[in-house]
Amino acid sequence: MSQKFDVVVIGAGPGGYVAAIRAAQLGKKTAIIEKYTGKDGKLALGGTCLNVGCIPSKALLDSSYKFHEAHESFKLHGISTGDVKMDVPTMVGRKDQIVKNLTGGVSALMKANGVTVFEGHGKLLAGKQVEVTKTDGSVEVLAAENVILASGSKPVEIPPAPVDQKVIVDSTGALDFQNVPGKLGVIGAGVIGLELGSVWARLGSQVTVLEAMDKFLAAADEQIAKEAQKILTKQGLDIRLGARVTGTEVKGEQVVVTFSDANGEQQLTFDKLIVAVGRRPVTTNLLAADSGVTMDERGFIFVDDFCATSVPGVYAIGDVVRGAMLAHKASEEGVMVAERIAGHKTQMNYDLIPGVIYTHPEIAWVGKTEQSLKAEGVEINVGVAPFAASGRAMAANETAGFVKVIADAKTDRVLGVHVVGPSAAELVQQGAIAMEFGTSAEDLGMMVFAHPTLSESLHEAALAVNGHAIHVANRKKR
Ligand code: FAD
Ligand code: AMP
Repeated sequence: MSQKFDVVVIGAGPGGYVAAIRAAQLGKKTAIIEKYTGKDGKLALGGTCLNVGCIPSKALLDSSYKFHEAHESFKLHGISTGDVKMDVPTMVGRKDQIVKNLTGGVSALMKANGVTVFEGHGKLLAGKQVEVTKTDGSVEVLAAENVILASGSKPVEIPPAPVDQKVIVDSTGALDFQNVPGKLGVIGAGVIGLELGSVWARLGSQVTVLEAMDKFLAAADEQIAKEAQKILTKQGLDIRLGARVTGTEVKGEQVVVTFSDANGEQQLTFDKLIVAVGRRPVTTNLLAADSGVTMDERGFIFVDDFCATSVPGVYAIGDVVRGAMLAHKASEEGVMVAERIAGHKTQMNYDLIPGVIYTHPEIAWVGKTEQSLKAEGVEINVGVAPFAASGRAMAANETAGFVKVIADAKTDRVLGVHVVGPSAAELVQQGAIAMEFGTSAEDLGMMVFAHPTLSESLHEAALAVNGHAIHVANRKKR
């Protein structure tokens, strides 16, 4: 007799493990299946995000930024440090410890919530049965009332740059360099390429980013993207736009990269090359031929607005379905699905998912961009507040960038908040909260913001929408 569960989740990333916890909280008998093993060879829950994504990359970004500050900025404050050195294995070891603590924490949460964990590969069969192939090769079939597919994503590979995890690495390999590459190439100026490029640039690598598109950060607000490009270039990132990589040749410990841009075919030699050209959904051996679950034309599992697949009682969430490949999007979909299984009417607001690039300064946004609103023919008012006018930003030596608030010209409703600058992610989250409650720029402007804070720049930008900014010259006066 197969074990029976109310909910079986395949994949324990931020989508799957959050869904499992919420389902268990709601009284559902829940199981989760995960196959990933960490550096110690043991089962590690938490998915891409905790093991080789959000958290380890932020650990390295924080370490490398501290090094950069000690090296470059402390002297401005009158602090002398002598010769500042970075021990890369210690930095990477600290990152590994954080990963271990967090993934261990997820296991503890499973236990605390009474979620049964199966180690192995999960596959959806017909009739909501789930086959688990365990590490020792044995197979168990579970019966489920509901199944949640949360198998995530993995790096896209491109034929001109095959990953060997030695010289040519993907994002996972780039989290584990044991020394600082002299010359580092990055293919792809997306979120991951810019974050990982920044880590190693701060530690001394000469970084060249090769991006096939002519436009930098095409999804971001154009004004923000332009400023971000200027700031990152000033930091030493050599960002080549319109540069398509067509080939690589590993020569000993180096790699020669061939690419073509407006100047024709060119070659550059690097000590390491990071391939960061996007991620694709993981569906290998996930669905039996007769499972009934369908995919879209790009290989994502097809779901509706509530993450229901083509089979009643089977749901899919996170990176394996349409939409932003972000941990918080995966988790909120997990909560929504668990609650809908329990009979609630939970919905998700897909219009207000914040996006963040954790460079320094950060680049973050929520809602619509100026160019997309103009393309839709929406009349807008825009308010901008530069951090150069913020006392708190000056005190922190963080004056690069600005806050931009976009509001509907007719209703004054805030439609987008975009920030490049210090604590951009936190500021944008304030915008997201306000927007969720349908705020107008005037509402935001009428709120009392603590002084001196970086948040005051959000206040100023909201005031500037209607020409009422106090500390910056208004584009339009009222
Ligand atoms: P995943 O986290 O990919 O988890 C899926 C899990 O399912 C994996 O553990 C996998 O082993 C398991 N699995 C797959 N198939 C099976 C199967 N058949 N049986 C059993 N187990 C299976 N997002 C952010 O929001 N913020 C960030 O700062 C951020 N930084 C990132 C940095 C990097 C370098 C990378 C690579 C990604 C980053 N992301 C970030 C993206 C984020 O990691 C993903 O959006 C998120 O992990 C998606 O969650 P998920 O649960 O859908 O899938
Ligand atoms: P993202 O999907 O945000 O991680 O970004 C990946 C980036 O890689 C995109 O901006 C792509 O244009 C870029 N890219 C994909 N293939 C190539 C290539 N062969 N050469 C250079 N850039 C590429």
